[in-house]
Amino acid sequence: MQYHPLQATLRQLSDGFTAKKFSSTEVAQEFINKINYLNSTLNCFISVDAERSLAQARAADAMRAAGKAQQLTGVPIAQKDIFCAQGWLTTCGSKMLSNFVSPYDAHVIERFNAAGVVNLGKTNMDEFAMGSSNETSFYGAVRNPWDLARVPGGSSGGSAAAVAARLAPAATGTDTGGSIRQPAAFTGICGLKPTYGVVSRYGMIAFASSLDQGGPMARTADDLGLMLNVMAGFDPRDSTSLQRDAEDYTRDLAKPLTGLRIGLPKEFFGTGASPDVANAVDAAIAHYRKLGCETVEISLPNMALSVPVYYVLAPAEASSNLSRFDGVRYGHRAKDYTDLTDMYEKTRAEGFGAEVKRRILIGAYVLSHGYYDAYYIRAQKLRRLIAQDFTEAFKRCDVIMGPTSPSTAFKIGEKAGDPVQMYLSDIYTIAVNLAGLPGMSIPCGFDSGGLPVGLQIIGNYFAESRMLNVAHQYQLATDWHTRAPKAIGEVTR
Ligand code: GLN
Repeated sequence: MQYHPLQATLRQLSDGFTAKKFSSTEVAQEFINKINYLNSTLNCFISVDAERSLAQARAADAMRAAGKAQQLTGVPIAQKDIFCAQGWLTTCGSKMLSNFVSPYDAHVIERFNAAGVVNLGKTNMDEFAMGSSNETSFYGAVRNPWDLARVPGGSSGGSAAAVAARLAPAATGTDTGGSIRQPAAFTGICGLKPTYGVVSRYGMIAFASSLDQGGPMARTADDLGLMLNVMAGFDPRDSTSLQRDAEDYTRDLAKPLTGLRIGLPKEFFGTGASPDVANAVDAAIAHYRKLGCETVEISLPNMALSVPVYYVLAPAEASSNLSRFDGVRYGHRAKDYTDLTDMYEKTRAEGFGAEVKRRILIGAYVLSHGYYDAYYIRAQKLRRLIAQDFTEAFKRCDVIMGPTSPSTAFKIGEKAGDPVQMYLSDIYTIAVNLAGLPGMSIPCGFDSGGLPVGLQIIGNYFAESRMLNVAHQYQLATDWHTRAPKAIGEVTR
């Protein structure tokens, strides 16, 4: 098959290196040129460092020449700017870390480096991953390559837009309440949030530690599996990292889906989603029936509580995690202050944006004496009930399907002034994080305005390879995942 490296999947790039069609250095240079050309329009990347990327690419070529290549050696990917990478500016989308060059690598970055993967740059994101639109970034909004007036979703919006616009063949993301799946849906790409504990959080700047999970974003289920093979693995430096045997997440891709039981939660198919989203998801499910799957109606009775529960627990954890940004240890420090308290206050007032401050305030409130039992403890109890709903549901089905997001990509500015509206856009994704389950989004069609729609696939704990199988079989039979935004080729500087 003939293809340009800029259009290739990770699998095709890897095969192309083996067949000596192109070198890693050539491919990295192509992507860097395209990033230089389009980033001022899309704003996907916070930092690019061509010299560093090309040095890694040359090292990967040498690794391959020496016969030491692994599957992904030489492929370039973009890294969400939440992952600490040694020598790279690592901002987490915040003014607070706008001068922070990481002295060390996150576990995920170490694993990619050891596999010979080239870092193409650090992608834009909502500040400290708090947001669903990428508009809370100190570095400005990212534009959706399908429609430049719209958001790419968030918080991994830069990663999603970069992959959709073919500025990177794949990227990393993190998902605390939907931040891999929702931007994947909004930009017509694939994203997987693994089971909590599968990917180490070491060096991944913490937002809500009991929910945060890193994962891959790419154009095919196959590529997600290849990336997860590198990203997953036990790490003693993260106390919630799971000690399990290594698995090949691509091992089940080819299995037929005959007899697969798909659970359709009635809460996902009510009046919540827009008609265009509902139609595309229904069509995808009809397709799965043709592939031999059965559907069963299930119920997740406590789903409606997931957003309020999340917006107690995530801010509580965030208020604690973000206390480390005090102007002393790293990052921004206010210039003028009278004493230590004044320095803390001014530093945090200047360094954090409005959404981050809102969450710190809510978090401190729900954890405070007198409110702890009424809010925090109560939310923890409801979290358990939400998780139990899934346990019950998985007695009757193998995977759960529904929309990833109630709408397609909304306009920049449309929800920015209304936090509750913004929070509700995660209604279908958040329960998965509260339960610690794996979830993914794959493209399944377009709305009447030509914007991509995402199908969400939720699996039981550690069902990643089965979920990738479910996604891959659909991608063998359909071509939604191959569609690229047209506008992008025509965008000029
Ligand atoms: N949109 C959700 C929030 O604002 C989820 C973000 C995420 O998954 N990092 O918190």
